[in-house]
Amino acid sequence: MIRKTTLSILLCGLCATSQGNAFTLLFGHKYRLPNNHIDFYVDLPNVATDGTSFNVGFARAALEWQSQTRITIDVINQYIDPCTQTTPQQGLLGGLDGLSSVDITPDICGVDFFGPLAALALPTGFRWPTEADPYPIGDINEGDIFYNSAKEWDIYGGPARHEAVDFQRVSVHEIGHVLGLGHSVFTSTVMYESVNDTTTAMPDDLCGIAISYGVPEDCSLLLDDSVTLSGKSTDALFTGGASTDHGLSFEAEFLSTNSIDVITTVVVEDAHIGEEGRLHVVVMLEDGSLFAKDVEGGFNLLSEATMPLPTAELKTLDVANEHLIFQDLVAADLGITDIELLVFVAYSIEADPSELYYSSTPIRVSITE
Ligand SMILES: [Zn+2]
Repeated sequence: MIRKTTLSILLCGLCATSQGNAFTLLFGHKYRLPNNHIDFYVDLPNVATDGTSFNVGFARAALEWQSQTRITIDVINQYIDPCTQTTPQQGLLGGLDGLSSVDITPDICGVDFFGPLAALALPTGFRWPTEADPYPIGDINEGDIFYNSAKEWDIYGGPARHEAVDFQRVSVHEIGHVLGLGHSVFTSTVMYESVNDTTTAMPDDLCGIAISYGVPEDCSLLLDDSVTLSGKSTDALFTGGASTDHGLSFEAEFLSTNSIDVITTVVVEDAHIGEEGRLHVVVMLEDGSLFAKDVEGGFNLLSEATMPLPTAELKTLDVANEHLIFQDLVAADLGITDIELLVFVAYSIEADPSELYYSSTPIRVSITE
C-alpha cells in the first residue's frame, strides 16, 4: 500500500563547503510542481544598498527560472508566515498551509539554522518513499524558503562577497530546490552547494528541470538517440558535455592547455530506479581504439578479453545519476597536443548485465595545440 503523507524535508541549503552531485533531482526522485506553476508569497521590508527592494530581488530570481523553463512563477507581495500550520500533518520542519512563503528569520520555526547555512528551502507535499514505492513520482505543493537573519544580506551582481550574501542569487538556488532540483557537481552552476559567482541558472541546472518536467528536448546537453545493445527501445536519457569553466558553458573544441571537465548524467528507465546498476564510460580515439573507465578512474584498452564492459561506477540507481568522467583534464600535461575523444556513456543493471543502455551520440572532445 502506498502511504500518502505530507511532510517537510530538510534540504541541503547553502553550506560553506562540501561535495556535490551533478544535476540531480530532489532526493533522487521525480518531484515537480503541479501544472508547472507556483505562487510565492513574499513581502520583505529589506532594501539593498543599491536601493533594490528584496521583493524585487526575489521576483528577479523567480524570473530567472521562468524565462528559461516552461514553469510559471507568480510572486505575490503579501506576507504569510512560512511557519503557519493549517494542515493536521506535522512536518519535520516548517509549517504546512499549502502556501509557499518566504521570510528572513533567526530560526526555522523554532529550529536553529544548521551551522553556516544561509538559507533553506522546504519543498513539501510529495509522497514519502515507502518500501512498496521507494521512488515515488509526486507533486510539490508547497515550498517555503527561510533566510538566516544572522547573515548580512544584500543584492549585487558579480563575484560573491564575504561581507554580505546576495539575496537574489541565493533565491535563485532555493527556488531551484522548490522546483525539484538537487545539487550539481559543477562549481559554476547556480545549484552548486555553496554560494558562488553564478547568479542565474546554467545549462546543467536547466537540464535538471527539463528532465524532471518531462521535456528533455529543452536540455541543451541532451545526447541523442538512446539505444540498447539488444535493440529494444528505451526511454533512458543521457546528458553530458565538456566545459572549461566548471559548467558556465559547454563546447567541443579545446586547446591542449585547457583544463577540461567532462560530465554526464544518466537518467535511467523508471523500472530501473532503485536497482543495483553500473555506469560505463567508453572513450573512442580517432584510430577506432576503445578505452573503458574503471572504478579507480583509470582508462584501459578495451579488447575481447576485457568484456563484459568494465564498470566506471557501481551504485544503486537514482532517477538521475551523475558521473564526472574527467576532472581538470589538461592534455598538454599528458604530452598530448592533438586528439579527438568520443565519449560514450552507458549503464546496465545487475539483474540483466548483458543488456546495455546507452546514447549513440557521444560527447565529443576535440583537442588541438
Ligand atoms: Zn541547496
